[in-house]
Amino acid sequence: MTRAWAAGLDMGGTNIRCAAVSASGDVLLMEHGPSHASRQAAAVAENIAAQLTHLLDTARRRGLGSPRAIGVAVPGPLNVYSGTVMQAPHVGAWRGYSLRRKLEALIGRMVVVENDANAWALGECWRGAARGRRDVVLLTLGTGVGGGLIVGGKLVHGRSGMAGELGHVTVDPDGPRCDCGSNGCLESYASASGLRGLVEQRLGLSPGAPLPAQIIDSGGNFSVRGLSAQARRGDKLALEAFATAGYYLGIAIASFLNIFNPELVVIGGGVAGAIPYMRKTMMTQVRERAFTAIASQAKIVRAALGPRGGVVGAAYAALHPPTRS
Ligand SMILES: [Zn+2]
Repeated sequence: MTRAWAAGLDMGGTNIRCAAVSASGDVLLMEHGPSHASRQAAAVAENIAAQLTHLLDTARRRGLGSPRAIGVAVPGPLNVYSGTVMQAPHVGAWRGYSLRRKLEALIGRMVVVENDANAWALGECWRGAARGRRDVVLLTLGTGVGGGLIVGGKLVHGRSGMAGELGHVTVDPDGPRCDCGSNGCLESYASASGLRGLVEQRLGLSPGAPLPAQIIDSGGNFSVRGLSAQARRGDKLALEAFATAGYYLGIAIASFLNIFNPELVVIGGGVAGAIPYMRKTMMTQVRERAFTAIASQAKIVRAALGPRGGVVGAAYAALHPPTRS
């Protein structure tokens, strides 16, 4: 008998992860490929479909048979019922783009499209740090800041699936301009791009100007890992940048605690590794701003699934498709 499984695909700005995930959440097979996010709207979708098709072929060859369902996680606000992506960071061409319809036409099967941070939240509740928890706030601190809310054991979709954009709560009304059109969003501080902005500001550099060698990677891009290494060495600039990011992260988390009274705040993404350098200022703000009775019921923990979070969550979303209640 072949095993029941779902295909889960997680699209980032640079890479795509695509996996066969068992009905109990085990990753049976994982493939990687480029996102080609700067291409035309249809070409980006065709690339996703090609990687899914490749995964389905590999799975068939390995005797897994066909998936029970297919889930695709992409960044940005989207209508989870129609599968229309409203706006996607990294994919400039997706504005009101009917991704689900396009993928279903290309693959010839039903596809569930979910926001990547929402998918991650589902994954962490299924097989990660929030296993068995019913009230969870998930934050993904990566290039930007994503959010996913689980309330009473259910992912909060809002009217059409766009709820939970936690990276775009205002933490400083006079803060820097955000890509979303607002000012002083959490994302402007507690993300890789936010940290880069904080470093540029402290060094008096204009946005995009060359950065010191210690904080760029081999490709010449700003490196949070490099900044963390500097903080570990006691570098003042790095410690200050993380302290500022932690301060604003704490302000946001205090509000999330007061609004949702969660059991857990789960923090994932590439910047989460630097939490030790943000924790002090973060916790001071949480203590000062959240009700003690609420904050004392919540733990702030690191995500457990790492890079698998998105694919596991996309598979879960596919196996439990959203229904309007
Ligand atoms: Zn914003």
